[in-house]
Amino acid sequence: MYTFTPAFEAPTGSPIRELFKYLGQPGMISFAGGYPASDLFDRDGLDAAAARASQQTTLCLQYGPTDGLPVLKEELAKLMTRRGTPCTAPELLVTTGSQQGFDLLLRVLVGAGDVVLVEQPAYPATLQALKLQQADVVTVPVDQDGLDVNALAALLEAGTLKRPPKLLYTVPTFANPTGATLSYARRIALLELATRHRFLIVEDDPYGDLRFAGAALPSLLALSAEVPGSRDWVVHFSSLSKIVAPGLRVGWTVAHAEILRRCIVAKQTVDLCSSPWTQVIAAEYLASGALEVHLPKIVAAYAVKCTTLCDALDTHLKDDIAVHRPAGGMFVWGRLAGGYDASAYLKTCIGQNVMFVPGVAFYKDNVDLASLRLSFAAPGVSDIEAGVLRMKQALERFAAV
Ligand code: PMP
Repeated sequence: MYTFTPAFEAPTGSPIRELFKYLGQPGMISFAGGYPASDLFDRDGLDAAAARASQQTTLCLQYGPTDGLPVLKEELAKLMTRRGTPCTAPELLVTTGSQQGFDLLLRVLVGAGDVVLVEQPAYPATLQALKLQQADVVTVPVDQDGLDVNALAALLEAGTLKRPPKLLYTVPTFANPTGATLSYARRIALLELATRHRFLIVEDDPYGDLRFAGAALPSLLALSAEVPGSRDWVVHFSSLSKIVAPGLRVGWTVAHAEILRRCIVAKQTVDLCSSPWTQVIAAEYLASGALEVHLPKIVAAYAVKCTTLCDALDTHLKDDIAVHRPAGGMFVWGRLAGGYDASAYLKTCIGQNVMFVPGVAFYKDNVDLASLRLSFAAPGVSDIEAGVLRMKQALERFAAV
């Protein structure tokens, strides 16, 4: 009846959101969603910030500047500087979640048929956004140390890409879905490759502050100071979603002025500005120092949850599911032994009231059917242990069929 644009003729929704219908199943234990723990939100700190915000009626309730409220931009620049990735407020664009930042970047940089490199397995919303943009997505494999930079170099040298790549998307620290972190040497090598081949590195960094083991690594944006000419080739996304609350919908983009200026024009037609109300709450929250007090509590809780999950998997499913222990973030990536398909196993698990995301959701091609992602952030510690036991029971049933 209607004539849709080619990208929307037969769209498929997010494979993870498809699983949400099972969340309502009574007694379900879910390792599936990429949701932060609701009981770890800093209710008191946010209530106090919201009370202070509500005194600033006009600022909260009126339209704001498209690039973000100056008070919030100043606080975010300070946060970046505390993280060791100094930037100034004018270098930063506030977005409605970092998800919007990626959408804006694609609008200004990527046309149909443009080559975009993406780590694989990858965050599904990125794959989906690129598909809707009709980009020519070329995947680069990931291992325990993050993006395989040697494979990327070989790909760039091989001359097989239809066009020079416009950009490369990666989550270098505590990746979604693998939990992997790009090593220091690979970070430098990646910056060198981007500078030589003139493609943008899209550094998506919503999880970097959630480190519970090992020493911190500088972001690609921070490390660009070590590789001459490379800062122009890094776009950095970050977000308050995983460290404060996703309901605020506060994310930000740090990029070269030429890029940012265009993203701001794109944002004018998308939403005019991100919600000033939640921007003021976020600014008040950050200015109060509450994040520095509260974040360690979230990190400590995630450390316990991650250990609980990995220990339980080791105890009950050691020979059945191989996992890598991450040093931070929210995700554990695993592989089923025995040549089993994780999507089929998930069906049995749902019958046992436990869920995860099968790895297929994170691949564009060369799918590893045995892979799966477990998030330890949202379930409580006792549910994590119970959930792994259910996965064990499910595997016994599944293997018996
Ligand atoms: N990037 C990655 C890798 C994510 O996992 C998520 C959220 N799951 C986002 C971006 C989007 O975050 P936001 O809430 O800031 O839009």
